[in-house]
Amino acid sequence: MLNVNANSFDRMWDECGPDCLDAVSRVGSSGWYILGAEVADFEEKLAKSCNCFATVGCASGLDAIEIALRTNEIQPGDKVLTTPLSAFATVLAVLRTGAIPVFCDVDANGLLDSTAAANAFAHYPDIKAIIPVHLYGQLADMNAFSNLAKTHGVILIEDAAQAIGATRGEIRVGELSHAACLSFYPTKNLGALGDAGAVILSDATQVETAKSLRNYGQTEKYGHDILGLNSRLDEVHAATLKSAFLPRLNGWLARRREIAQLYLEGITNPAVTLMPGPDRRGSGWHLFPVLVAAHHREDFMDHLAAKGVQGGLHYPVLMSDQKALTDLGTPLISGSLRMAQSIAEQEVSLPIHPYLTPEEIEHVVAAVNAWDGQ
Ligand SMILES: *Cc1c(COP(=O)(O)O)cnc(C)c1O
Repeated sequence: MLNVNANSFDRMWDECGPDCLDAVSRVGSSGWYILGAEVADFEEKLAKSCNCFATVGCASGLDAIEIALRTNEIQPGDKVLTTPLSAFATVLAVLRTGAIPVFCDVDANGLLDSTAAANAFAHYPDIKAIIPVHLYGQLADMNAFSNLAKTHGVILIEDAAQAIGATRGEIRVGELSHAACLSFYPTKNLGALGDAGAVILSDATQVETAKSLRNYGQTEKYGHDILGLNSRLDEVHAATLKSAFLPRLNGWLARRREIAQLYLEGITNPAVTLMPGPDRRGSGWHLFPVLVAAHHREDFMDHLAAKGVQGGLHYPVLMSDQKALTDLGTPLISGSLRMAQSIAEQEVSLPIHPYLTPEEIEHVVAAVNAWDGQ
């Protein structure tokens, strides 16, 4: 039987392995392993690829969000508005900054709803920052959030961990915000051989602060003006990202978009609702989400598993319901989280990665269409 997995690191390695080994050998023989020429060069090439002012590499997507918040002077006790439907890292970064998350609902695409966000300012006028998450690779409505942030004079930070290279209409990641955060966790659209991340920034002062924050808050040798992290991007990761992975990003994104289009055209099962999102051509298609009735989801997952198709759930538990958060007290919620809750109960992610073969894509479509929806 054909097994279609959510990721295929062995095929990725078959293609990229030799370039990775060259990069590792280059770093090894250079004798410089932390914050050297590879990091600087990767940051520059990443900025070019993202068409942005600058990027600062760091150790993970989680750290990228904390560094972005602190670079923009979000302080302990400040309120930060975000979505309840995301990887837990989004809210964990807010909490690690000492800030207080405020949740409001998402739209039918699973993206932070700009009307709900605007209403949240009526309940919590002291919100200091907004973090929309570009869930599944689709950009949130950055025009609306940029206007909202300007209206209230607050910081706007994009969680773009799932959306490197994505656009929505004319808008690209990092264009309308104070900072955008990238993750290079291996499953992400640009994955490293381990943990890594970066922040997209739009001015030189921010870049200096973010570079200091990632390196103990050091501003000059032996001088520490702020309490920073150890969130340095390793030379080995920078080198492999730069030489082996970043040059392939656009090709991978194009392939993800082709596969998404084949799924959107091929899946015709009336019991399965497609989520083409606000911009199917611009999306990074990090995931391919579909919706099925909540009480049939387990059956759908069993059906996929029986056909050898690895499904995923993104995300079955809202961040506002996670024990780590509720243990701190009742989370701040503006309005109802009805849409987020309903997506959390109904969503299933189908395999989408650039190394899927035409046979595997057909197999996934056939498996989904063969489900009787009971
Ligand atoms: C992966 C992810 C993160 C965290 O990135 P790490 O590199 O794993 O720390 C944050 N937000 C979202 C939406 C993610 O998908």
